[in-house]
Amino acid sequence: MLQYNVRDILADPRIVITVEETLDLPSITFGKEEIPIVQPPAVQGKIRNVEGNVLEFRGVVHLTVKMPCSRCMTDVEVPLTPEFSQRFIPAEGLGTAEPDEEAEVFSEYRLDLSDFVVNEIRLGIPMKVLCREDCKGLCPKCGHNLNEGPCGCDLREEDPRWDALKSLLQNQDRHGMEQEV
Ligand SMILES: [Zn+2]
Ligand SMILES: [Zn+2]
Repeated sequence: MLQYNVRDILADPRIVITVEETLDLPSITFGKEEIPIVQPPAVQGKIRNVEGNVLEFRGVVHLTVKMPCSRCMTDVEVPLTPEFSQRFIPAEGLGTAEPDEEAEVFSEYRLDLSDFVVNEIRLGIPMKVLCREDCKGLCPKCGHNLNEGPCGCDLREEDPRWDALKSLLQNQDRHGMEQEV
């Protein structure tokens, strides 16, 4: 997949190779995780001989991954459309352009874009996703999904430093009531 014979385009810069492939990629490793791909990556792009046998691949991938919401852990389907542009130079020294540190090298007229595209997909994966903007997350005490309603836990912050003040206020309240009586 995503392998192209570029002998013709190197010989004739007027030739443009149209890339249109759907990848058989059920999941992608991202750090220590394996992220399921629910809508297979559809790659669209063009390979052009841009200058002195430097090939440029420019395109976009459409895919959908499934990731857990970073607050409530519910699976979310996340559509991604990473765009990219990359230059490739032939290892055989066919290129006459200035050395380009960001260019990748290919050999024997075979341009294999699969590693590059998979890496671009990986770069397009967000670190965090939310199931919705105002996701309430999970109850820190019982783990209940708070989007489904309250769980009944007392979630007020308990800070021991306030205890003294609290008892002071309670005493005042009692005084106030006594005065009213
Ligand atoms: Zn959520
Ligand atoms: Zn709870």
